[in-house]
Amino acid sequence: MSSEPLVDWSLIDTVLLDMDGTILDLAFDNYFWLEFMPTVYAKKNALSLEESKLYLANSYGAIEGKLQWYCLDFWSDRLQLDIPELKQSVGERVSFRTGAVEFLSFLNKMNKKVYLVTNAHPKSLEIKMLNADFHQYFNDLSSSHEFGFPKEEQAYWLALESRYGFDKHRTLFIDDSESILESAQNYGIKRVLGILQPDSTRPPIEHSRFERINNFLRFINNE
Ligand SMILES: [Mg+2]
Repeated sequence: MSSEPLVDWSLIDTVLLDMDGTILDLAFDNYFWLEFMPTVYAKKNALSLEESKLYLANSYGAIEGKLQWYCLDFWSDRLQLDIPELKQSVGERVSFRTGAVEFLSFLNKMNKKVYLVTNAHPKSLEIKMLNADFHQYFNDLSSSHEFGFPKEEQAYWLALESRYGFDKHRTLFIDDSESILESAQNYGIKRVLGILQPDSTRPPIEHSRFERINNFLRFINNE
């Protein structure tokens, strides 16, 4: 039986939450980039689906973890396709992870400061908000594109701290990415938690240096 990590909420004032794979099911993004896009790109360029998949996988891999990787304008330009429009065309597939809404409302009830901190491009954030109602739970929402650095870089955390003025010793950060969790920990964020199964259609993450939570409802039921 797996044990879910617990949080002592009396030690936490601020909660920083990632979007894709944390409050939202990563199944949408994996579907969009790995299934839907190869089909669209193959059709546009008269490629086989396999050729299209290979080309896109190489393109994605070349800049993974860089700010550009998250930039819809970059991909629209690079692939000569309107990526925001394509994303919105399958936007009904955007969905919350189990217990995410209840968890957000629980944080609000406890009067924690809650910030959405995503590497997603502002246009991606906008599309997600159009298809899943979550902005009202947050004190503020920001895309790392506003700061000029992705969460993987220490400069991002400096910029974030100066914008929100949180006390990193009383802050909880939750994200599904191992390299981003490491970056937050290196910066000195007090409590750093991962997500066990960011994409509900794929197996859970097997190896991680971080405690990973599966079901947010566990936080609530333990109070
Ligand atoms: Mg994520």
